[in-house]
Amino acid sequence: MFHVDQSYIDGRFVPTLGEEIVDVVNPADETVIGRARLAGRADAQRAIVAAERAQATFGRSTVAERVAMLQRLQAAMLANADALRESSILEYGGPIARSQWVAQYASQCFGDAAGTLAGYPFERPAGVDGVSTLVMAPVGVSGLFAPWNATAGTIASKLAAAIAAGCASVVKPSELSPWQAQVITRAIHEADLPPGVVNVVTGRGADVGAEIGTHPAVAKLSFTGSTATGKLIARAAVDTMKRVSLALTGKSASLLLDDADLRAAIPLALGAAFMNSGQACVAGTRLLVPRSRIDEVVEQIQASVAAMRVGDPADPATTIGPMVNQAQFERIQHFIRRGIAQGAALVAGGEGRPQGLDRGWFVRPTVFSEVRNDMDIAREEIFGPVLSVLPVDSEDDAIAVANASRYGLQAYVFSTDLDRARRVARRLQAGTVLINRVAPDLLAPFGGVKESGQGREFGVMGLEAFLEPKTVTVG
Ligand code: NAD
Repeated sequence: MFHVDQSYIDGRFVPTLGEEIVDVVNPADETVIGRARLAGRADAQRAIVAAERAQATFGRSTVAERVAMLQRLQAAMLANADALRESSILEYGGPIARSQWVAQYASQCFGDAAGTLAGYPFERPAGVDGVSTLVMAPVGVSGLFAPWNATAGTIASKLAAAIAAGCASVVKPSELSPWQAQVITRAIHEADLPPGVVNVVTGRGADVGAEIGTHPAVAKLSFTGSTATGKLIARAAVDTMKRVSLALTGKSASLLLDDADLRAAIPLALGAAFMNSGQACVAGTRLLVPRSRIDEVVEQIQASVAAMRVGDPADPATTIGPMVNQAQFERIQHFIRRGIAQGAALVAGGEGRPQGLDRGWFVRPTVFSEVRNDMDIAREEIFGPVLSVLPVDSEDDAIAVANASRYGLQAYVFSTDLDRARRVARRLQAGTVLINRVAPDLLAPFGGVKESGQGREFGVMGLEAFLEPKTVTVG
């Protein structure tokens, strides 16, 4: 059993003042593995005061000082990678390969940000030659919000950009991830940053989140989570005109063009659909297939899904671990029932737990064929291993169906003709289009269009999300 009852404020672990105690349950076997005291409004207020105090000095730190801090964070994350991986497996049910990747990624974020920062022009000429200079200044105290499905990765990528820019921050992990948050906070503490530059308060959105989201001392919010919550955050932020970056819900399309090599493309498309047990914002959960090839595609998918191992997330042979909790399990069951009721053809999986798994929030990897884009399973983010296969009549039809969504986070294109795939990519409404791959480019901008968000993370654009341009003009 682990106990989390401290918040991280002003460079120290201090007793959390919030009064709510929650059990932390291992989703793979439903046993209680820990107990956490959630932070409340008073904890958030103390964290904001500490960040505000730190900002005065940190905002004037040099690039060299911040590069050194990022490098110390990179090393500290690497030193704690095993603990990060273990907490992700046990608290969240993340399959080991994914959990391992995230643990490494947390370290890499800081190294990448140090590289971006070192070459960034904070001052440059602007306007009339020799008269004006554009100075990029830190926006100020930043609130960083993480969802439960990507705790370490989200905290690391946002924190790396905030520190690179010279912004002190208050981090708010999800109330469903107190242990993962504790592990990453210990790593942050080991990096020995000036007090108050990073503060971590793990609590609920309604109090801790709302406090950070409306406090006048907070200048910037960087939020990753659902579109519904993102809209609440954006509305509340407008009163104090906080700068807001939102990374939100997805319902990504995978376009299998008629020239695709199925043996290479289907494993990638299934990897996109079922990554992180389907609990991924960028999961490619709508597979658009030329009508002429639908039978061979479905046949190959059925064989692959039948061979997929669902079970213990610590077992390297496992592809799909448990869902994070019962609510998420029930949500997926609801969508599977909706798919059947609305007339889609169930070609793999279905309702209930996989055979032999009576405990734990395991669901069956499920595939529907003959899906229409107006069905709930094609429109809504399910956030579990449920793939919808939609037949399309042409390349134009595939693009139209892909774009007929309120979301636009990521899209995937599979084709043996790269020029053609690039032409298709240009017409897709998505923040990122991956061609013949599933792995992202972590130095390239990442974010969503339409209701999948606003703003970009990673690389120079990610840094600039924490900077405010100031023009200095001389007479
Ligand atoms: P969520 O919106 O419920 O919560 C996200 C964070 O916001 C949590 O820390 C939560 O406590 C906080 N929060 C909730 N209500 C709040 C409020 N009223 N004020 C302030 N903060 C509040 O999302 P979730 O269920 O934790 O995560 C899953 C969602 O996140 C999915 O929709 C997924 O697609 C999305 N997501 C997006 C990305 C991306 O990069 N676009 C990445 C990961 C997850």
